[in-house]
Amino acid sequence: MAFESLADKLQNVFRNLRGKGRLTEADVKAALKEVKMALLEADVNFKVVKQFVSSVQERAVGQDVLNSLTPGQMVVKIVNEEMVKLMGSETTEIALKPAGELTVLMMVGLQGAGKTTTAAKIAGKLKAAGRKPLLAACDIYRPAAIKQLQVNGEKQGVEVFSMGENHKPADIAKAAMAHARKNGQNVLILDTAGRLQIDEAMMDELVEVREAAEVSQTILVVDAMTGQEAVNVSRTFDEKVGVDGVILTKLDGDTRGGAALSIRAVTGKPILYVGMGEKLSDLEQFYPDRMASRILG
Ligand code: GDP
Repeated sequence: MAFESLADKLQNVFRNLRGKGRLTEADVKAALKEVKMALLEADVNFKVVKQFVSSVQERAVGQDVLNSLTPGQMVVKIVNEEMVKLMGSETTEIALKPAGELTVLMMVGLQGAGKTTTAAKIAGKLKAAGRKPLLAACDIYRPAAIKQLQVNGEKQGVEVFSMGENHKPADIAKAAMAHARKNGQNVLILDTAGRLQIDEAMMDELVEVREAAEVSQTILVVDAMTGQEAVNVSRTFDEKVGVDGVILTKLDGDTRGGAALSIRAVTGKPILYVGMGEKLSDLEQFYPDRMASRILG
């Protein structure tokens, strides 16, 4: 990578510090300026950065400057640990009911975030894990979305339930539930409509679907490339519809992925998976420690 890493930058800040004994507030402030810049460059939300940096500062001031560990590395270590803590420390799975019951997952997100693709990716994962998934096309506004779900479902060997464009999404969802129960499918994945921007009608429709289909998990799909915007999107979806978990797509792009940190900090909701490409196998577990390293660079 062409950029100087945060660790290198911090080594420079602390170059003349050896033998000083303890880190002073001024030392730590200088280092945290670099941390702040790195996080902002990674597109972490400004408010989140401020809060984060002050919590790191508290921990770093007064630390011994150990000979074995340079102060720069020590600050990087603290920053890393705090980030991992903030992102949830562990991987989180989608919560499923026992196999004998029907779990309904509702995929939500803005248009283009990767909802339809991710719905099919999840269906494939569940199938591989021994579940019997059913995909349902509840996006009645874009005929192409229904077709896309059908194509992807076929690739995954997962049935796609569709009623075309002339029924209300809540009614399609209800019919899909009945279909799943009749056919012994135990996870129903609802692909819903997104808009280019958040609007009230979309939120109302999602609430209606959620209630009609007794949704057990609402999964928000967010494009990591959108950075700051991802935070607003997450906050609004969580407030209006309620979100249980987040999937961050397009992390195969050149974004540092600061959105992961912001979303978790702002909504408190776990990141479940990350999308690493357009192929249906490109869905990976979210590892907070790997993400922290990626964001810090
Ligand atoms: P939707 O409108 O939210 O349903 O979004 P789509 O599923 O149609 O995805 C929009 C575009 O993003 C498509 O071209 C997908 O192939 C692409 N896409 C989805 N997830 C990923 C990902 O993780 N990485 C990359 N590179 N592209 C993705």
